[in-house]
Amino acid sequence: MTDTNRRTFLAGAALTAGAAVTLASNTAASAQSGGGGGASEPTAPAAAGYPKPPYPTDMQPWPGLASRMNPRPDHGETSYKGSGKLAGKKALITGGDSGIGRAAAIAYAREGADVAINYLPAEEPDAKEVVALIEAEGRKAVAIPGDLRSEEFCRSLISQAADQLGGLDILVNNAALQQTRPSIAEISSELFDDTMKTNVYAPFWLTKAALERMEAGAVIVNTSSEQAGNPSPEIMHYAMTRAAVLNFTKGLAKELAPRGIRVNAVAPGPFWTPLQVSGGATTEKLRTFGGDSPMGRAGQPAEIAALYVAAADPLLSYSTGQIFGSTGGNGQPA
Ligand code: NAD
Ligand code: MG
Repeated sequence: MTDTNRRTFLAGAALTAGAAVTLASNTAASAQSGGGGGASEPTAPAAAGYPKPPYPTDMQPWPGLASRMNPRPDHGETSYKGSGKLAGKKALITGGDSGIGRAAAIAYAREGADVAINYLPAEEPDAKEVVALIEAEGRKAVAIPGDLRSEEFCRSLISQAADQLGGLDILVNNAALQQTRPSIAEISSELFDDTMKTNVYAPFWLTKAALERMEAGAVIVNTSSEQAGNPSPEIMHYAMTRAAVLNFTKGLAKELAPRGIRVNAVAPGPFWTPLQVSGGATTEKLRTFGGDSPMGRAGQPAEIAALYVAAADPLLSYSTGQIFGSTGGNGQPA
């Protein structure tokens, strides 16, 4: 992450947290005045109030913080309602501090699971918010910062999570690195390596270690992308990793079915998260983000959390090797 382009990007990045709007609380306020969403409603009605392009283009240094985004993403803080689908389960979610991982963490806790999250040390402020949200449900929250590019850390993360949770039923491989580059000539070997380590090696290392602890009934949930089947050229190195994870999901599902362990993936389309405002999208792409989908906007993390629940739901016991998509109408994810 130290090549010339990266430094240039960071030098040009503007951080205007002061102007940030709290989308989640706006949505809750509109619910109270009859606008939909809110505590007694499912997540979906809140969607009518979600912002559309053109979006503000406030960039942040990588890895970015959800708490400093403008507008702030909706992770389901005020809207997700659980119904005990994951009661008593122990889950580890990588990248659980923000974005899609945070939405999954909130949903899992509200479905009755104890949740460990992994994130980078720089993301501690976001992680603290998620820990408070999990604990507010009366569930156990475990926060384990560390860098997934290290195999040693990946092994220790699984041990720490399983020891502190008292077991491991669900592993959500969700963390990823996405940094845009204008051409293959500007994708340095260092960036390529960081992207592969974070997005392909880490899920492999974590899964391998987790399987030493998992029993029948356990589930691995991977995060792929619509990029797996329809790559954008400026993130081709990232798109390759989402295709790899999709393929890994299908292959591993076949190996583990006889053990009673399922493996599924969720494939998002464009979602409003820190990954996009911290180098994952160009300014122009961010301004019109998701505008080319039939929904005409980016998804909010709250809108995909239920797929992470479904991917791990014991009731879907015949679903393994499946790819659950959420692309705003742009067809199948891959
Ligand atoms: P996000 O920035 O909120 O989450 C990504 C997380 O990855 C970060 O919070 C960070 O904790 C973690 N991470 C990155 N490098 C790490 C490292 N070296 N060690 C430990 N943790 C590291 O963004 P998001 O969009 O919610 O991303 C979650 C997943 O969704 C990713 O797998 C991404 O590929 C996928 N996805 C996102 C979109 C989108 O439009 N946002 C679209 C398709 C797929
Ligand atoms: Mg984050």
